[in-house]
Amino acid sequence: MSGDQDCMRVTLKCQDCSGKLPFNAVTAPAAATCGRCGLTIPLTVSETIRSDQAVDVCPVCTGSDFYVRRDFDPNRGLSVIIIMVLTSMGFYWFGLDLIAYAVLGVFALLDLLVYRRLKDVTVCYRCHTVFRGAYKPSAPVFDLATADELELEWARTLEKRAKSSSNQNTETGKQIRA
Ligand SMILES: [Zn+2]
Ligand SMILES: [Zn+2]
Repeated sequence: MSGDQDCMRVTLKCQDCSGKLPFNAVTAPAAATCGRCGLTIPLTVSETIRSDQAVDVCPVCTGSDFYVRRDFDPNRGLSVIIIMVLTSMGFYWFGLDLIAYAVLGVFALLDLLVYRRLKDVTVCYRCHTVFRGAYKPSAPVFDLATADELELEWARTLEKRAKSSSNQNTETGKQIRA
């Protein structure tokens, strides 16, 4: 487990089904296969990423536009809130409202501590690949205008790729029939 901390961990988002595919930058294969839809996604991991120094070129879309955000898992945040509310409601039910408020306070504090401990992660504007590691994130914060522009550009690239591969398929189909 400690060896896992020493390298960059990359999570890419499947272009077809939006499934998440985590891989290790050091042991990254030449292509990742989506476990949900079977799509093969070619990977080109740069030396800088492999050595956990910085995020320079995205291994999935070869773009170099990134932003930095807090590494926050919305599902985990929600479960903390649910546990917190249920626990304090339990105490409140038994007339122990002071304890209920204390529980709420403690959980709020814990939540704050957890949130503060969260590290920054780098995210690719185009394909939403996330980079976690010991490197120092240097990308700017999220910008909606940039995101709109680059996401559209990436969608067009994918469309072109899909078209050219289906053209190839029909050509080979003709050849087989001929
Ligand atoms: Zn998929
Ligand atoms: Zn990318």
